[in-house]
Amino acid sequence: MKVPLLDLAAQYASIKPEIDAALDRVVASQRFVLGPVVQACEEAVADYVGSAHGIGVSSGTDALLVALMAEDIGPGDEVVTTPFSFFATAGAIARVGATPVFVDIDPVTFNIDPALIEARITARTRAILPVHLFGQMAEMAPIMEIARRHGLAVIEDAAQAIGAHHDDHTAGSVGHYGCFSFYPTKNLGGYGDGGIVVTDDPARAEKLRALRVHGETTRYHHRFVGGNFRLDALQAAVIHAKLPHLECWTEARIANAAMYRGLLDSSAALGLPRVVTDRHVFNQFVVRVADRDRVQARLTAAGIGTAIYYPVPLHLQECFAELGYPPGDLPNAERAANEVLALPIFPELTAGQIRHVAQNLVDIVLYG
Ligand SMILES: *Cc1c(COP(=O)(O)O)cnc(C)c1O
Repeated sequence: MKVPLLDLAAQYASIKPEIDAALDRVVASQRFVLGPVVQACEEAVADYVGSAHGIGVSSGTDALLVALMAEDIGPGDEVVTTPFSFFATAGAIARVGATPVFVDIDPVTFNIDPALIEARITARTRAILPVHLFGQMAEMAPIMEIARRHGLAVIEDAAQAIGAHHDDHTAGSVGHYGCFSFYPTKNLGGYGDGGIVVTDDPARAEKLRALRVHGETTRYHHRFVGGNFRLDALQAAVIHAKLPHLECWTEARIANAAMYRGLLDSSAALGLPRVVTDRHVFNQFVVRVADRDRVQARLTAAGIGTAIYYPVPLHLQECFAELGYPPGDLPNAERAANEVLALPIFPELTAGQIRHVAQNLVDIVLYG
């Protein structure tokens, strides 16, 4: 039996008529960039998240970038963030000319440790950029409190966490901006690149809308220097058609995670994901294992797909060498980078596939 890390074809097969009809309508309209299909998608996603405004953009990366631009964050400014995330989190900060300031993670959740944030705030700090990694929300209550005390913006990187919630707050709706990705591997994935920024603030929404079209407010009149960060209608049509299924897919991910837990719980050599919030949406199911690379190689040989998110923490990336973080500086992130292993968790996995993955993993961990 082969078990891929992700099988997008299975999902497409389950919704093919709806998707094909939505795509056909866009092609028939010949309206490919922004327009009514994009607007309908924006409203539906913002409504799902529980935010007043949604601004569709070209990717999750550009969602972060345009949010930072909307705050006029740039050279000389600092943004406090996590070292354990996809590169875009810190890349967006660097691309506006600001300096990412990395704070170590909580080893239980892999998310930024709020207790370490305040010590890194300076007169130059403009924003906090927490990531809801793997589908579980960062601790937003203390983060919002710190931001309020210091007058900082909060930009949530919710790319992996659509539908996650805790204490009546949903991922992306707590901070001043919530940034989502529609990259195909995300829980709500399009058929290419796409993303959205949500916000409750009408002034911020208006600025985001201008920035995604080169800062244009009326045709050929530019109040800001923005970029081409537009969402195209084919992606919006796919996202809008998939959205009604998202809850069902998320519940399937949660059920798959529970099944893994039942099968793997007794293996002391494995660190299982800990759920400390009301709803973890399991974009990834990530275990910790000491001799990770060997275990991954054995699973690969057995036909089981896995991945390492992420092998190099951001503060140790070559492009950030000049920031001067020595190895050992952020030990929880560095340890996680050496131990994490993501297992297949996509909604369409069968019980037989989950048992097969768990059995192989336990055998490899126990018997080598
Ligand atoms: C996927 C992802 C992004 C970037 O999204 P893209 O749509 O690929 O640009 C940013 N942050 C995190 C945490 C992600 O997982």
